[in-house]
Amino acid sequence: METILTIENLHKRYGRIQALKNVSFEIQKGRVYGILGPNGSGKSTTLGIVLNVVNRTSGSYSWFCGKMQTHEALKKVGAIIERPNFYPYMTAEENLKLVCKIKSIDYTKIDEKLNLVGLAERKNSKFSTFSLGMKQRLAIASALLNDPEILILDEPTNGLDPQGIHQIRDIIKKIASQGTTILLASHLLDEVEKVCSHVVVLRKGEMLYSGSVDGMSANESFFEVQSDDIETL
Ligand code: ADP
Ligand code: MG
Repeated sequence: METILTIENLHKRYGRIQALKNVSFEIQKGRVYGILGPNGSGKSTTLGIVLNVVNRTSGSYSWFCGKMQTHEALKKVGAIIERPNFYPYMTAEENLKLVCKIKSIDYTKIDEKLNLVGLAERKNSKFSTFSLGMKQRLAIASALLNDPEILILDEPTNGLDPQGIHQIRDIIKKIASQGTTILLASHLLDEVEKVCSHVVVLRKGEMLYSGSVDGMSANESFFEVQSDDIETL
């Protein structure tokens, strides 16, 4: 089995807030992983650290068994960790062309990825006319332009209506079925159960469970407490 990401004893403090305590897990190629936990449990912090946009306090992580430098490894990682942000008066296709230009990717992938996310027919529509779900789907197409080894999504269905949620989940499953490894942060138990095969459960920055979704579902006691309370030390 090929290891995509290894995280060991990760700790993160933001001033007095202990956002992560001793988080360790591995991501294996071809699987669909969830990071599940209520708001404030440390999901985005974990993703930010491994994407090198948040500094860790201690601990370590390595991409692809440390075979390459982090900045090289991150070229093989597609990530959507913010609200989709494109040029509003440019079309979907023009926005993706710009992404290709910036990342030195061939334009040939654009149609394939727009098709994958169900936006082929809207490629000539301006971004500003898109619903939130369509914006999110364009962000997914954009993150896939260079055929990454792994796609990371931080709460991609937040704020969407049921139809939009369903579309995004289906697209994630389709991408996974094509062999792309997925890491999905979500506060929704049913989302992780529907989409993921493996899961890391966080609460207040601590790992409560790591393993198969089936194994987690057999022991749902951690979800009895789903408060948004934040631990300040
Ligand atoms: P989640 O994504 O699971 O909602 P986060 O990783 O965003 O959790 O946050 C974990 C904890 O760290 C929370 O208590 C949050 O308030 C805190 N936190 C996150 N980002 C910052 C920051 N930039 N500065 C201070 N505290 C932060
Ligand atoms: Mg978050």
